[in-house]
Amino acid sequence: MASLISPYLNLGLLTPFEVIQAVENAFYEQKLEINSIEGYIRQVLGWREYLHGFYHYSDENYAQNNWFNHTEPLPAFYWDSSLTDMNCLHQTLSQVEKMGYAHHIQRLMVLNNFALIIGVSPQEIENWFHAVFIDAYDWVMQTNVIGMGQFADGGLLASKPYAASANYIDKMSDYCGKCVYQKNTRIGEKACPFNYFYWDFLLRHQDQLRDQGRMSLILGHLDRLTTDEINMIQFQAHQWRQQQKSHKT
Ligand SMILES: Cc1cc2nc3c(=O)[nH]c(=O)nc-3n(C[C@H](O)[C@H](O)[C@H](O)COP(=O)(O)OP(=O)(O)OC[C@H]3O[C@@H](n4cnc5c(N)ncnc54)[C@H](O)[C@@H]3O)c2cc1C
Ligand code: SF4
Repeated sequence: MASLISPYLNLGLLTPFEVIQAVENAFYEQKLEINSIEGYIRQVLGWREYLHGFYHYSDENYAQNNWFNHTEPLPAFYWDSSLTDMNCLHQTLSQVEKMGYAHHIQRLMVLNNFALIIGVSPQEIENWFHAVFIDAYDWVMQTNVIGMGQFADGGLLASKPYAASANYIDKMSDYCGKCVYQKNTRIGEKACPFNYFYWDFLLRHQDQLRDQGRMSLILGHLDRLTTDEINMIQFQAHQWRQQQKSHKT
């Protein structure tokens, strides 16, 4: 459950200490579950402060990092949710259009993940996040998008890229059940684009990713793909990109 307090915290209308004290008091007064209280305080005291410190520690060119050398343009549907029939993206983007807000998993594993696996320029996706979110500030946007989301700093901030297929999105949401694409299919007309792009991403960057310790198990799955499957995955990814480019013109 998301609390929607980031704009107030970032503007200084609430301090992290006030939030933590209020949550701690609620724990004792309302006998709440310790694990949810601990998890919440960890977000505010842990992640938020870590990223704040990291931003001030990193050099002034941090936002220009592009470790994967990604240069694809951002698909037009990020600016207009009606242009995509992928349910997870359509629902999340139309919510952002209405509210300027999405919760953490929508930001990381839907919006950011898709931009990462299709190879969008990290600077382009960061500019987009900046333009559409109500809680956007450089210190929290650059760290979350360039570092955590796009892994564009090569692992200075996070220990592995947050790339995932439909399997993860299905576990964390109810989007896939109502989608025109098939969450379990990798190739073919109804295959979920998160699936073929996830494998295309691993194939494109396997040499670079081999040095990242936490990726070795995942990269091991590439060995099980046949040459035909690899060719079909790469062809389908290429075809999708071409279609997006022709929609723009
Ligand atoms: C791609 C991407 C972009 C993001 N951009 C922003 C942004 O511009 N501004 C912003 O404040 N947060 C950003 N975040 C972090 C996080 O998603 C939001 O802080 C959170 O979703 C805000 O909603 P909430 O208040 O309901 O959070 P809750 O889930 O209820 O969490 C409580 C609070 O914990 C803090 N918090 C939790 N995770 C993080 C994190 N990774 N980084 C910093 N603080 C965190 C926030 O202050 C948040 O309000 C981004 C995350 C990603 C993956
Ligand atoms: S099937 Fe794919 S595109 Fe559709 S909602 Fe699931 S992850 Fe998103």
